[in-house]
Amino acid sequence: MIVAEPKPIKELLEMVQDFNKILVIGCKGCVTVCNVGGLKEVGILASTLKIARKKDGREIEVGEHVLERQCDPEYIDEVKDIIDDYDAVISLACGVGPQFLSERYPSARIFPGVNTKFMGGAVEHGVWSERCAGCGQCVIHYFGGLCPIARCSKSLMNGPCGGSSHGKCEISDDVDCIWDIIVRKMMAQGRLDELVKFRPPKSWTTARDGGPRKMVREELVI
Ligand code: SF4
Ligand code: SF4
Repeated sequence: MIVAEPKPIKELLEMVQDFNKILVIGCKGCVTVCNVGGLKEVGILASTLKIARKKDGREIEVGEHVLERQCDPEYIDEVKDIIDDYDAVISLACGVGPQFLSERYPSARIFPGVNTKFMGGAVEHGVWSERCAGCGQCVIHYFGGLCPIARCSKSLMNGPCGGSSHGKCEISDDVDCIWDIIVRKMMAQGRLDELVKFRPPKSWTTARDGGPRKMVREELVI
């Protein structure tokens, strides 16, 4: 899933300081799963905005709405009859949501309410970890089912750098060296020789390096 974190309330208050009617829109997708943009978080942000304004002695009206997904025009349409009632919108979705809102409602003032971090998953309660960099051509089967692109600090594809030490990455003792894990796993599976096989250089044209990406699946196009 896409992992995000809340923007600091101070930053959000500054963003919307000139507006008095604000609509907070959440999303029931990834941001609900990582506890940053679902029904509960929309309610908390709405209350926080009201309390902060009350302390300042300023009026504010805050609307609350949660869409099934903000990355789908079908659901974005749902707010068409209410969005003009507000001066500003705070989107509690990943970076896709506020952009879809901005494109669908060009005259609306849309603000991002979260910081989108990475694609990953929960490794323990309250802890999320990156797993995929969206390179567009998955190659993890060469590396014991683990991704050196997303999980090596240098995205090395040909083995560990000289900084790997005691299973940790040179950037921090808090970061596991994924190459250490890959090598140990391949050894355990008796497949170490696969790591020395020649493979042509990976094409990065399918990754962000090839520019903004678009995917068309003809069989689904209506
Ligand atoms: S190889 Fe590419 S698609 Fe596969 S997990 Fe890594 S970054 Fe994601
Ligand atoms: S120490 Fe390991 S994870 Fe860190 S940059 Fe080097 S190979 Fe990559």
